[in-house]
Amino acid sequence: MAATPQNPAASRRKVSRHRGEGQWAAGHFTPLNGNEQFKKDDDGLNVRTRIETIYSKRGFDSIDPNDLRGRMRWWGLYTQRRPGIDGGKTAVLEPEELDDSYFMLRVRIDGGRLTTEQLRVIGEISQEFARGTADITDRQNIQLHWIRIEDVPEIWNRLEAVGLSTTEACGDTPRAFLGSPVAGIAEDEIIDGTPALEEAHRRVVGNPAYSNLPRKFKTAISGSPLLDVAHEINDVAFVGVRHPELGPGFDLWVGGGLSTNPKLGVRLGAWVPLEDVPDVLEGVISIFRDYGYRRLRNRARLKFLVADWGPEKFRQVLQDEYLKRELADGPAPAEPVERWRDHVGVHRQKDGRYYVGFAPRVGRVDGATLTKIADLAAEHGSGRLRTTVEQKMIVLDVAEEQVASLTEGLRALDLIVEPSSFRRGTMACTGIEFCKLAIVETKARGAALIDELERRLPEFDEPLTINLNGCPNACARIQVADIGLKGQLVLDEDGQQVEGYQVHLGGALGLEAGFGRKVRGLKVTSAELPDYIERVLRRYLEQRESGERFAA
Ligand code: SF4
Repeated sequence: MAATPQNPAASRRKVSRHRGEGQWAAGHFTPLNGNEQFKKDDDGLNVRTRIETIYSKRGFDSIDPNDLRGRMRWWGLYTQRRPGIDGGKTAVLEPEELDDSYFMLRVRIDGGRLTTEQLRVIGEISQEFARGTADITDRQNIQLHWIRIEDVPEIWNRLEAVGLSTTEACGDTPRAFLGSPVAGIAEDEIIDGTPALEEAHRRVVGNPAYSNLPRKFKTAISGSPLLDVAHEINDVAFVGVRHPELGPGFDLWVGGGLSTNPKLGVRLGAWVPLEDVPDVLEGVISIFRDYGYRRLRNRARLKFLVADWGPEKFRQVLQDEYLKRELADGPAPAEPVERWRDHVGVHRQKDGRYYVGFAPRVGRVDGATLTKIADLAAEHGSGRLRTTVEQKMIVLDVAEEQVASLTEGLRALDLIVEPSSFRRGTMACTGIEFCKLAIVETKARGAALIDELERRLPEFDEPLTINLNGCPNACARIQVADIGLKGQLVLDEDGQQVEGYQVHLGGALGLEAGFGRKVRGLKVTSAELPDYIERVLRRYLEQRESGERFAA
């Protein structure tokens, strides 16, 4: 039995006299910060009953502050930013001054797997309860805004009636599992991780054994040789490989994560067969729960434990204490042959049909568009869709003779199957429109940037990623973009503080993964952004050598 605050006797180690890092496995059960305290006081999952029976009936002002800014995240709910508060006030106002009485609601979409029926329901909820808002996130979820607490139970009813949920979409929990968007259909697939993803979901999501983790926990499973789930920056990742003797399975990575102190995941050198993935996932989550650092929130991600232990010790603890068996050694994944990993475009499936990936601008759609996408997918495919980790979408199972009609139907919705590099490669986080941590605008800025670069550089057709964040966090993965833009206030030429970005250049994912370099002193105002990027790309086009790819 695991050591928990309720069951400290199960601690595996002698209690230290020092508070240490707040690790449960070392017997440190006294909450060392406010978050640990509210989690100990009541499991985040329990807030659902209060939402259904009290808050939705009595309204926003009846919500306990520890639920409002804490436990409601366990059900995918964050208060959104009160409109009209500029970025200069983000750090100086109290949380309650930033809170609007409306919520962002994150719909959890494990593996990005959607049916047309599910997408239609999300689109209808968006139009009825969320002022038509809908953003596809870079973790394959869909987020809605302007949600009133009074409407949440009805929204859950409608989502759950079609097999969707918001369970543990946020909070210190196992968040939505990333999965290859083309699992089970891609011609080049090494192994289909879908059965493992489904079994892991059944065991883990909403399970109180894993609902009080030190912080969020991110999982990725993909058997695609394109390495299409950003596995390097997840807490745990299962990456498809062929073992020379044992056949197709997964290479195990742990400890990736961006935000402050970004770290790339490390390989444990272990090969995991499909049927063992749920056990191994549970083992890694359990290590995080039991040994993860809880004292300081900014050290409470698995990456810090992995950095301190190293991969050998981590594997040993996983095998000895949790799996009770040895894992086989295994090979590393191969370098993908393509730089685009988003599945945008028209691609043949292993069954001879096609999948069609398309690009909205920076993941922003709307409820009416989602229902129209669902209609198109039902008309042209078998009713299956996927979201990607690049804020894009895919319609599956399209007969060859239907591809042109689907492509045209999507184009009429401004969803492009053959987008420019700029539309394809630009992502933006939520930003100041709704996010309480934001300092600058991102979504509208990103969309306008795409249009401007398409106009100025129509000839540019190379893979390129431009990621915009509204603050120093990493929701849009700025550190691993070719051009990463970290939102902050900067000085304009008149010495006035205005919205702008610190520039990071040369980040990447894949086997050449690395963090972009913060270009010292290089900050651009939002107004200067198109000029700056145009200059950088023109210089690259003029000076590049044969075979060189864009990297600063
Ligand atoms: Fe909000 Fe910052 Fe995340 Fe953007 S990066 S969504 S501004 S916390």
